Amino acid sequence: MDLGASTEELKGVGPKTAEVLKKAGIKTLRDFFYNLPRDYESFQAAGTIAEMRPGKVVIKGKIDSLSTRQARRRRLSITEGVVRDNTGAVRVVWFNQSYRTRQFSPEKEYYFSGTYELKNGRWQMTSPSSALVVDIDPSSALSPIYVAHGALKSHDFRKIISGARDKFASIPDLLPTVQAGTRKDALFKAHFPSSTADASKARAYLAYEELFELILASKLNKRENEKLKAKKVPFDAPKIREFVEKLPFKLTNAQRRAAWDIFQDMEKGTPMNRLLQGDVGSGKTMVAALSAYGAILSGGQVALLAPTAILATQHFEGLKKLLDSFGVRMALLTGATKHKTELKKQISNGEIDFIVGTHAILTDDTEFKNLILAIIDEQHRFGVEQRQKLALKSPTGLAPHLLTMTATPIPRSLQLTIFGDLDVSILNEMPKGRQPIDTKILTEVETKEQLYPKIREVVSSKNQVYWICKAIEDNNMSEATSVKSRCKKLKEIFPNLTIEFLHGKMKPTEKDEIMGRFSDGKIDILVSTTVVEVGVDVPNATIMIVENAESYGLAQLHQLRGRVGRGEKKSFCYLLTSGDIEPSRRLRELEKSSDGFYLAEVDLKLRGPGEIYGALQHGALDLRIASLSDTKLIRRAQEDVKKFLQNDGNMLKYKELMAGVSKYQQLTTLN
Ligand code: ADP
Ligand code: MG
Repeated sequence: MDLGASTEELKGVGPKTAEVLKKAGIKTLRDFFYNLPRDYESFQAAGTIAEMRPGKVVIKGKIDSLSTRQARRRRLSITEGVVRDNTGAVRVVWFNQSYRTRQFSPEKEYYFSGTYELKNGRWQMTSPSSALVVDIDPSSALSPIYVAHGALKSHDFRKIISGARDKFASIPDLLPTVQAGTRKDALFKAHFPSSTADASKARAYLAYEELFELILASKLNKRENEKLKAKKVPFDAPKIREFVEKLPFKLTNAQRRAAWDIFQDMEKGTPMNRLLQGDVGSGKTMVAALSAYGAILSGGQVALLAPTAILATQHFEGLKKLLDSFGVRMALLTGATKHKTELKKQISNGEIDFIVGTHAILTDDTEFKNLILAIIDEQHRFGVEQRQKLALKSPTGLAPHLLTMTATPIPRSLQLTIFGDLDVSILNEMPKGRQPIDTKILTEVETKEQLYPKIREVVSSKNQVYWICKAIEDNNMSEATSVKSRCKKLKEIFPNLTIEFLHGKMKPTEKDEIMGRFSDGKIDILVSTTVVEVGVDVPNATIMIVENAESYGLAQLHQLRGRVGRGEKKSFCYLLTSGDIEPSRRLRELEKSSDGFYLAEVDLKLRGPGEIYGALQHGALDLRIASLSDTKLIRRAQEDVKKFLQNDGNMLKYKELMAGVSKYQQLTTLN
């Protein structure tokens, strides 16, 4: 069977369905088979309503009296209905799932699986999952539940995959025999398991396949990188020492070590491919400055790419202060830069040594004379293509050394797999004098009682406040307060303070102007979207407020929090929630810990690697099977990959594997 064939080969998939599937990233038969259930449900065990006991229950019945209402507290909609069978009736309740009102036909029979419990003095079934009785295969103990995509609901996927049962038999293995079992069995059992143990065994098989591919991709990337040539940058000890001595502070030991790693890499004739990981505020920029200076001393050019214009501008200004007196010729290139043509000429002539900018650096007509080092800040905001473009910008035919900086700590298991081709330096030490940031979850009521006085206090001692909102403008789709209306409200509450807003859709010059005034201490409260998330450095700001905190990921919240606590003063972070629901584990962990590496591990457990990797890579890589927390399995896969690579013939023999691997290579390559 050709796994690469279109999904239209499947029974029940016509052009229209194929189109919906395509939008969900499911283009081929392979994609369809690998679209694994998100969970399984045992509907066979359905009992009667009369016999329900508190706890997890499954019932079978018809539903009526469906309605949705807004809860008194904002941001919560409640959908209710009544399910009946011939023994009785039970109330069912869903939160924030108003589509349920439209989902059911009153004359059809459904399974409901959920928790039967006493809430506010009434018995109810809370947030049950449901399935049409006629859709469930009575012979299988567990029914797969699929993620819905557009018009295609779980039961549609179930129907199509059921119709394709006979196709599994001809699926060939992907890997050489490195684990027990076959791919066809594993895929079949993943969709149609006879027990939960069966399902996990099947998924483990597929997870191993995925690990193998990932590790193989990163090993091949490393091989390819080693084949490239780069300019050797000799280490100019006296000049570097002079530079370090003139700094306004002492480097941390971690900064020293990282810089040393980098200088050693750049002395080699193969391009550096190093990731500099350091929690927010650990001083990565200083390491970048040192590396850049080293490269420029050897007569080459350096480019630093930042994810936003604000950040590029800030980097430029900070670095200029450091490097100006050493004769480094610097320029800033963002979308807002005037006289671009002239500037680009200077870059191609070699009249500029150090160019700091955004994506604008990557437009096709920017040429470098001699790009030796490229530094990418917060790499997760850069797509792979952009990185590849950068590598091609070296007219000498030599690949630039590449230093990638990230404040998103990468859990160890990810480092071994996805980032296995990178050398890593870690800044695990904060500059002296930093105080931990007090973090607190506040409900709406607590916000008024505790936060407002706190803001007054902080501002009266000449410090500043960030207030982060989800949306730019109010809109009907979301109840989140927007930047604009929050700004207006705050002006009413604090008529004597200077309050401004900032968001990504403003003109670059406007943004720069506001950011500049905030940096200069002329704005007390900056109400902003997450454009300030990455890297912005205003040490005088000591309060970070995140409204609708529940709607952000852990890594992002940690990033936002890192905008304060950058000076010597005590800083605070407030996570505002509606108070309708218990704060999530995510928020509670953030309240407890300020260790980015610990939080990344928690995030990995809570969300799975796909999400974390997604955050790093803009969702470019979608790991289908969460398995990256299993370090033992990773080690085994590493061994197997090593053996695989010892036989060059393997690459020709395992064509399907290599095609998948080369896709991963595209995603993970930094060259
Ligand atoms: P990040 O790692 O988040 O990019 P930055 O490079 O922006 O951190 O540094 C955060 C702040 O710490 C900056 O204001 C920087 O000047 C300062 N800093 C960097 N290194 C040191 C050091 N060794 N001692 C004291 N302050 C430092
Ligand atoms: Mg930074």
